[in-house]
Amino acid sequence: MIILVINAGSSSLKYQLYNMKEESVLAQGRVERIGMDSSIVTHEPEGKSEVRLVSEILDHNTAVKRVIDLLVHKEHGVLGSINEIKAVGHRVVHGGEIFKHSTLVTPDVKLEIRKLFDLAPLHNPPALMGIAAVDTNMAEVPQVVVFDTAFHQSMPQESFLYAIPMVLYRRHKIRRYGFHGTSHHYVSQQAAEFLGKPLESIKMVSCHIGNGASCTAIMDGKSFDTSMGLTPLEGLMMGTRSGDLDPAIVPFTMNKEDLTLSEVNSMLNKHSGMLAISGISSDMREITDAMQEGDKQAKLAFDMYTYRLRKYIGAYAAAMNGMDTLVFTAGVGENSVVLRKAVCDGLTFMGIELDETRNAERSKEARVISSDNSRVTVLVVPTNEELLIARDTYQIVQNRA
Ligand code: ADP
Repeated sequence: MIILVINAGSSSLKYQLYNMKEESVLAQGRVERIGMDSSIVTHEPEGKSEVRLVSEILDHNTAVKRVIDLLVHKEHGVLGSINEIKAVGHRVVHGGEIFKHSTLVTPDVKLEIRKLFDLAPLHNPPALMGIAAVDTNMAEVPQVVVFDTAFHQSMPQESFLYAIPMVLYRRHKIRRYGFHGTSHHYVSQQAAEFLGKPLESIKMVSCHIGNGASCTAIMDGKSFDTSMGLTPLEGLMMGTRSGDLDPAIVPFTMNKEDLTLSEVNSMLNKHSGMLAISGISSDMREITDAMQEGDKQAKLAFDMYTYRLRKYIGAYAAAMNGMDTLVFTAGVGENSVVLRKAVCDGLTFMGIELDETRNAERSKEARVISSDNSRVTVLVVPTNEELLIARDTYQIVQNRA
């Protein structure tokens, strides 16, 4: 079965075309700068050379149309006809409390995604535009939605509630939802498979450390707690997000600096984190390069970042009354040897023992980086959210047939 996976953002649309027989990628690419007259389409068909086109793409509908044209293109395409695509899977950021699993798109599902616009104003509207674009261009093809929040719906109340008046939860559903769920779910499954153990038997902390970053405590095969909250701002220090802070800072700063709500929001999401502390960049490579050249602010940013990560891992070990597996994933987690070392070297009290040679190896495969004596097995597991979306889509469409 051939499945198209779509990840639609406000001005971008990424896609991957899977052949589910071997779970191989037939083509992938992205449309950037949607809504502008110089939109860029980058298309990478398997076994053929990359294509880059610049043209006017004013909406998601046109973006999907362009993608389809490229997939069936005589020279750059990988399909004989669009009818070969049997299902489309979409990444949707927010599934609220209603979506606990991936699901087939129906008119009711679309309505529910729309109702969640309030909780994810930047992310859910473009996802719905992506679904509508597929409706228009591939009317008969079943669609499935896979939510970033769904994996964390297993969190118990003590993990997901904020200690604020309950009426706010009842009225507005203000609670912790968590994000990166597709990634945490995928790497936990991969880790269990790699270790040859049932996921249910593992007490794991998975660390998705990319531009955004979150940690998840996984117990009995389910998310028990996660560091992001109502929005992705909570938790770890990130590239440009502050992570945890005293909420009283918000009114205090607004007052002192004469800022509006939206200015504070932007400060905490876009101008904080490593960027703010280092004064250099939000990019971990630039921070570690500067640190190695002796830049003090870069070192401070790195130390704060890794200190907070260690605190979360320690907290989750306590939350689960122990842990046996630690997983690093995403851009920083998969690639930064120094970050993994800084985190693990501060957790030897838990029996974590890093093997420096294993840690320094580069590979695209899941691997162990702890020593054979380590009480906690430390793994690097490359994430692949698109593959999990394709797998869920495949399963749901198969079961429906
Ligand atoms: P996103 O959250 O946007 O999906 P990624 O998971 O791709 O982000 O992670 C991006 C981050 O990964 C950047 O901070 C980047 O510096 C970092 N990164 C990528 N490669 C390396 C590397 N070799 N060493 C250290 N950090 C890296």
